[in-house]
Amino acid sequence: MKIKIAVWNIRNWIQLGLFVFTIGIGFQFYLFVKQSSGDGEITIARPAGVEGFLPIGALMAWKRFLLTGEWDTIHPAAMVILGFAVSISFLFKKSFCSWFCPVGTLSEWLWKTGERVIGKNFTIYKWIELPLRSVKYFLLFFFVYIIARMNSADIYAFLQSPYYKIADVKMLNFFIRMSPATVWVITGLIVGSIVIRNFWCRYLCPYGALMGIVSLFSLSRIIRNPKTCIQCSRCVEVCPSYLPVNLKNRIDTPECSGCMDCTNVCPVDKTLYFQNIFPKKIVWKTSVVGVSAILILAGSIYLAQITGRWQTHVSKQEFKKMRLMMIDSPELTHPTFPAQKQQRSD
Ligand code: SF4
Ligand code: SF4
Repeated sequence: MKIKIAVWNIRNWIQLGLFVFTIGIGFQFYLFVKQSSGDGEITIARPAGVEGFLPIGALMAWKRFLLTGEWDTIHPAAMVILGFAVSISFLFKKSFCSWFCPVGTLSEWLWKTGERVIGKNFTIYKWIELPLRSVKYFLLFFFVYIIARMNSADIYAFLQSPYYKIADVKMLNFFIRMSPATVWVITGLIVGSIVIRNFWCRYLCPYGALMGIVSLFSLSRIIRNPKTCIQCSRCVEVCPSYLPVNLKNRIDTPECSGCMDCTNVCPVDKTLYFQNIFPKKIVWKTSVVGVSAILILAGSIYLAQITGRWQTHVSKQEFKKMRLMMIDSPELTHPTFPAQKQQRSD
């Protein structure tokens, strides 16, 4: 039996909307940086949303906030976006990855395209699959280890450094001034994502690994009623992580992204559903999850805006001054901290 894979629903519309929006703010940021390099006035607004691509800085800033109560003023939106991602992963499994992340969206489009064009996605031997899945956790633990070793003074020094002030521009340059090595790596990732389902998210993304760990404590789970399940395996066929949904009564793994594609293809009513497990048993409809997540995102941004926690405090003049320096100058390279300096001198 040929299973229909594509289920175009509110999740896919949200993914499409966020993807287009991300391209839009990326382009606006490019124009802002270009203008700031010239001699004239900066008239284009800097879109704060680009800070979503600075998750490591956001993690540091959250640690400092928890230690001191002080919100980062350099890339405050990065904290808001990470806070949102963690919140909805807590509420609706790892839904940030399958509903909002533009990289996750691109990854999904690529494997679905590969499936249509080649006729299938290739699977990896189980003995390689498990070590591969742990790569993203190793990457995450590497960053967490470094951040754990930094005290609030170290973090403050990093967040206030010229390097971090201009980290968003460095990120932009990563994409528009690609080195040959970067081109090869990105090409490899694209090819891998076409032939292997959810290649980036399943194996490599440390951000997804963090959301997966948060989702272990999530209030929602995919639940299967074994009494009415007819073992058609449609749920397994559509699952981006190939989870054995037809064999489990409850999906607890951090690999479940809460995409709800399995619940949407299940042909038997009330057999497979996404349910709140605490404090009350509520069955979530796809539309309710989507609307709730959008409202949480909009509410978080609005709250951050009215409390001055969204826009950077780096003035356009300061930005222009830094931008006019060579971006690769020593003044704008990664700072080191007392602990690292100590290690080097030992
Ligand atoms: S188990 Fe269902 S909700 Fe979870 S990732 Fe697989 S298809 Fe998506
Ligand atoms: S799609 Fe529904 S009926 Fe089919 S195997 Fe999965 S849970 Fe059972």
